[in-house]
Amino acid sequence: MINKPMLTVACLTIALSVFSGCGGEPKTPTVQSPPAASSTNSGTSAAATDMKSAANNANQPNTQSGTPANNQTAAPNVSQTGSQSGSSGAAPGTVGKAADSSLSKPGAIQVVTSPESITVLVNKQQALPESYEPKDLVYPNVPFTFTEKIDKRKMRKEAAAALETLFEGAKKDGISLAGVSAYRSYATQKTLYNNYVKQDGEEKAKTYSALPGHSEHETGLAIDVSGSNGKCAAQNCFAVTKEAKWLDSHAAEYGFIIRYPDGKESITGYQYEPWHLRYVGTQLSKELAQKNLTLEEYFNAVPVQSRK
Ligand SMILES: [Zn+2]
Repeated sequence: MINKPMLTVACLTIALSVFSGCGGEPKTPTVQSPPAASSTNSGTSAAATDMKSAANNANQPNTQSGTPANNQTAAPNVSQTGSQSGSSGAAPGTVGKAADSSLSKPGAIQVVTSPESITVLVNKQQALPESYEPKDLVYPNVPFTFTEKIDKRKMRKEAAAALETLFEGAKKDGISLAGVSAYRSYATQKTLYNNYVKQDGEEKAKTYSALPGHSEHETGLAIDVSGSNGKCAAQNCFAVTKEAKWLDSHAAEYGFIIRYPDGKESITGYQYEPWHLRYVGTQLSKELAQKNLTLEEYFNAVPVQSRK
């Protein structure tokens, strides 16, 4: 097992390079935090980072909103199945093109126009509006690594229901999962980011902390999970656990994807995060899994490997 210090170094190293590492993921203590009435912090601290790539994020979010009609990369309905293979396939409608052209400009930040879409694309270039707050956040009825009823336990209703089904499915296979961190508000992300800026300066903070609006956790559709023992929660060593292997094989059956897969770092901008699940609905999750595509590839909006 990789120990913490090593991980820290690894994360830093990666963060300082092009990709952000340990993105968005709370460096949650590897504990099955029992009812200890600790602060609301079990995982928020070092966390919430959704580390940013310095290379592609020179701008603050919301500095421009692009062309509203076109920069909505998240097709509300996922009826585009099979129309593209990922790489240079034409994106359905204007979706991919808009995203692509904007993403080809370094530092160009776009604000998504349909943040409530289940398939919304939020990444280092696509930000949620500052005012966006999911209207249907609920507490999924699944165990977490902490007991407090706080924001980071919440998910949007549809995602929460799917998560419950996923946890049940895992249990039937002898896999006990626990939530580590789900929803995070824009305000929370902003506070975290600002604190990092105070602490390390803006340039450095950008290399490891997500700008507000850019963390997928703000959608209410993402959650970091671990085994119920909390071991390796949101850490690289989670990758070799049976829980991670189960998720890799079965998450798509329940509408979730491993959002930052191994080997796609240059596409997602994030290092492999086997613990970060994103709900996109079963139609899309199954297609992505089958074709081995990331959301960026699906929407023809690859940030880092921009095409000519
Ligand atoms: Zn995450």
